[in-house]
Parts: sequence; C-alpha cells; structure tokens
Amino acid sequence: MRRRLAAGNWKMNGTGAALAEVTALSGGHPNPQVDILICPPATLIQRMAEVARGTAIAVGGQDCHKARTGAHTGDVSAHMLHEAGASHVILGHSERRTDHGETDATVRAKTEAALDEKLVAIVCVGETETQRDAGETLSVIGTQLQGSLPDHGVNGATIVIAYEPVWAIGTGRVPTLDQIAEVHDFIRAGLVDRFGEDAQGIRLLYGGSVKPANAADIFAISNVDGALVGGASLKAVDFSAIISAL
Ligand code: 13P
Repeated sequence: MRRRLAAGNWKMNGTGAALAEVTALSGGHPNPQVDILICPPATLIQRMAEVARGTAIAVGGQDCHKARTGAHTGDVSAHMLHEAGASHVILGHSERRTDHGETDATVRAKTEAALDEKLVAIVCVGETETQRDAGETLSVIGTQLQGSLPDHGVNGATIVIAYEPVWAIGTGRVPTLDQIAEVHDFIRAGLVDRFGEDAQGIRLLYGGSVKPANAADIFAISNVDGALVGGASLKAVDFSAIISAL
C-alpha cells in the first residue's frame, strides 16, 4: 500500500515571513495518513527545516546540480540540499526544462546525484498543449520517463513521479479525470515493465492547478497517490484543505 504524498512546490515564492505558513500547517495537521512535503526556494530550506523539525512536514529542494561540488556558479548540489535539511528534491520540472534547457539526460544525471545523497527524487514529466492536441501525450511521457530515470536504484523509497501537463500549470485548467487516469495508468505500466514489481511502490503525483475544490475528485483516481501543488501550497489554509482531501 502506497502512502499518499502532498508536496508543495513554492517555486520562486516566499521569504522569511512565509515560514509562518509552515507553523500554521503543522499546528493544524489535517491528515496523519498523508506524507507532507514543502519545497521552498533554496534560500529558505535550512530555516524551514528548523521550523519543521519534530513536525510531520518534510522539506525539499526544487532542483540540484549533478555534481557534488565544483565551479558551477549559482547552482546547488544534492549534497548541499541534504546538509541544509532537505529529504526530497524536485527534478525536471517543466519550468526547469523550459527556462534552463534541461533535457531528459540532464534530469537523469541529477536524479542519480540525488539518489547518491539519499534524497528522494520527484521526477516530473508532462506534455505541452500542442503535444496533447497532436495526440502525442503518451509517447512524450514515455520518452521523458525512459530518459529521465536511471537504470538502477529506482523503487518506491527513492523515486516519486509527478505528472504535470504543462498547459495545466498555473492556468486553472485541469485535464479530465479520464485523461489523468490514462496517463497515470500508462506511467505505472511503464515503470513496472522497466523496473519490475519494485515499481508498484513508486508514488505517482498529479500536478497542475490542484485546488481544494478539485482535489478530492483527482485523488479518487486509482494510481494517483497524491499531488504536486504550486500556487495552492503557499497558504496553509489552502494546502491543508488539499491534504484533508487525500
Ligand atoms: P500550480 O498548482 O500553481 O498549477 O503549479 C503546479 C506545479 O507546477 C507544481 O510543481
């Protein structure tokens, strides 16, 4: 049985004042059956880990470099995230793929680095609207999954997959429940095909305009094991409503 996971991706939002949301969320922990994770900007990881210590809330990064140290101005390594108090890291988010030209090979190398540091890697995949309209959704997702995951060390304790249709991120538009189910079933089958029964433990998150109002319907889909939430994770009141729906 897979435990459910509610992951918040704060993206480039949040300064010290936002740590009050973590305190508020931990105070009103709405659902002990659910693992809770917040991935703030790198500048807040250490402080958030201190605020979250002793609570049910885990803290993660939003990206890492593939190398442990070195001449990579502006980058942060998995080793550094781990030392700052992170237990997870989001990799291959479509905003990284677009803004920073990350390829599947880049994401795979970063995933290997994360696993080396014992960070759980949340590997993101998702089609653009053009790709969906062209009927390419499953082939795009299949290619991304194949290229972004390493051959070894992939199981439910090390990897989470997030399906985030690019056109649903921050837009208020959500795929139909059938469309989400189709992609999640496809991802599960592809993982089991490649990694065997170990892949049954890998959690599959849906992300893209998840809100308190649509969360329960999305979470009722089989093979949806939680959510990767952007905008609605910034306020404890919204995020806890989503967690309650899980
Ligand atoms: P929104 O929930 O704001 O659509 O963002 C989704 C996302 O990109 C999470 O990683």
